[in-house]
Amino acid sequence: MGVDSGVAAGLMPAAFFGHGNPMNALEVNRYTAAWRAFGESVPRPRAILVVSAHWYINATAVTAMPRPRTIHDFYGFPRELFEVQYPAPGLPELAEEVSDVVHPTWVGADVDSWGIDHGTWSVLVHAFPDASIPVVQLSINADKSAQYHLELGAKLAPLRERGVLVVASGNVVHNLRGMDWSLTDEGYDWAQRFDEDAKQCMLTDPTGFAALDAHADYRTAVPTPDHFIPALYLAGLAGAAGERSASVLVDGYAYGSLSMTAYTLGLDCARTAESAGAPQAPAGVPPDGSNI
Ligand code: ZN
Repeated sequence: MGVDSGVAAGLMPAAFFGHGNPMNALEVNRYTAAWRAFGESVPRPRAILVVSAHWYINATAVTAMPRPRTIHDFYGFPRELFEVQYPAPGLPELAEEVSDVVHPTWVGADVDSWGIDHGTWSVLVHAFPDASIPVVQLSINADKSAQYHLELGAKLAPLRERGVLVVASGNVVHNLRGMDWSLTDEGYDWAQRFDEDAKQCMLTDPTGFAALDAHADYRTAVPTPDHFIPALYLAGLAGAAGERSASVLVDGYAYGSLSMTAYTLGLDCARTAESAGAPQAPAGVPPDGSNI
């Protein structure tokens, strides 16, 4: 089997984005260029369902409000980042559809606590800048295993046939304590080892992605699972779509301890990898605990 040569008839692509520094929302670099190219390459979705690292709670829930608010869930960044708005509408009926497709897994409907967090909008401001497509978020249940998340991702597959673009947003390697702001575009050896092995897994054996918690570098690359888990959702979707269905959209490292790798399903992204622009240093250096 080769890489998909285009969009399968009637089947919406899906993606995982390594979102990195929230300042990517305001910057233009080779990652944001790839995210933009992705948005321009997909058929217009009926809605976007996002699994964001930043909605990490003790329940499986889906946003069900008609007008989700833009959430600025970080600290220590410039004011202009707090002024970003992503005024996409919600789609309450999609919450019901999500509940149906993942049955018997229970999914709660959130009508007033969450909205659109920066894991979502820092990518969507580039991929879908006009914010006209409804956005719904699916929480990450912190109480559940990697296998639960992989299987829940697989259960979302029917939504791809219903015009829903499933997007996951996190970072496969995400160690905030290990960050070195001077290493703008570099990755430590352990970060590269883990990201490369995760890449092999996603591209060749995605259903094995949950077993990466046994990798020798897992505890360093994934000290907390919140940013890794979104990749399990794309791996689950990739497994449901058949072997070797995922492609690398763009890859690289930031600050030593983050990988920026992004993956797509059902889309030929080779040309987007050509999109290049020099990565930029962040405008401000936030303190520890900045919740990126
Ligand atoms: Zn983040």
